[in-house]
Amino acid sequence: MKSLTLAQLVDQKPDVVLVDASGVLYREAGAFPGSPGAIRFLQDRHIPVMVVTNNTYNSPAGIASRLDAMGIQIPADDIISSGFGLSQDAEIRHLMEGKRVFVFGSQESRYYVELVPSVTIVEEPADADVVVLAATIDNQVALFNRLVDALMDTVVTVICCNPDRYIMEKNGRSPVIGYYADRLAEELNIPVFFVGKPQSNFSKIVAETVKNRYKLNSFSRVFFFDDNPDNVRQLTRDTGIRGVLVQDTGLALEIPISEIETYQLEFAISAFKTT
Ligand SMILES: [Mg+2]
Repeated sequence: MKSLTLAQLVDQKPDVVLVDASGVLYREAGAFPGSPGAIRFLQDRHIPVMVVTNNTYNSPAGIASRLDAMGIQIPADDIISSGFGLSQDAEIRHLMEGKRVFVFGSQESRYYVELVPSVTIVEEPADADVVVLAATIDNQVALFNRLVDALMDTVVTVICCNPDRYIMEKNGRSPVIGYYADRLAEELNIPVFFVGKPQSNFSKIVAETVKNRYKLNSFSRVFFFDDNPDNVRQLTRDTGIRGVLVQDTGLALEIPISEIETYQLEFAISAFKTT
């Protein structure tokens, strides 16, 4: 596995650098010490940075202000959330258009649902044609049980716009919304439609967004940093974007990474130094 320092990355004259958020820029406790400096290092050299995240708890504006509070300046327009998959993936959008939708998530999660033409958000799962699982919330176990009860004898489409099953926390892995999506599918004996990393449908959205924004003909100088080997592997395979596995932080610590063809990010966003 090759490794890459930040200076070497800059030497490769990236057209754009795509970075994951949780596990790369920050963890539960806040920003990794090196990440604001690493991002600024790139921005000072006029290398565009975009965030590619499965965070559908926050709207892009919410993510931008959360990052800003950590000293990382990424405009909301430069944040590609998996939540955009709801409106930008044709198959998923088609499942939602004109439908009554119950949103399992935060208030800001609704932002992504409302981008889909002519949806009506309903407050009761029993009133819904479609349930969107967007984000884990405080009372999720109780709400999940209510969801199962309400949906048991109905015909409903379930969509999850954050395929993450677990996140790393101080005390180990904890289940998040993708895990509940699998559970719901099992309980109701129906399929769940996923969009987000590491799904090919989201790779396509990322590729289109980057290509249009920067008028690129090739992704050979586009780099994608993520701490989840599955995300790096899939986006790289789907798009030709160059994957960089961030190994010193986040999920990569837990997942074996045998056959992955990628770069190790040696400078470690977590311990970035400019000298
Ligand atoms: Mg991550």
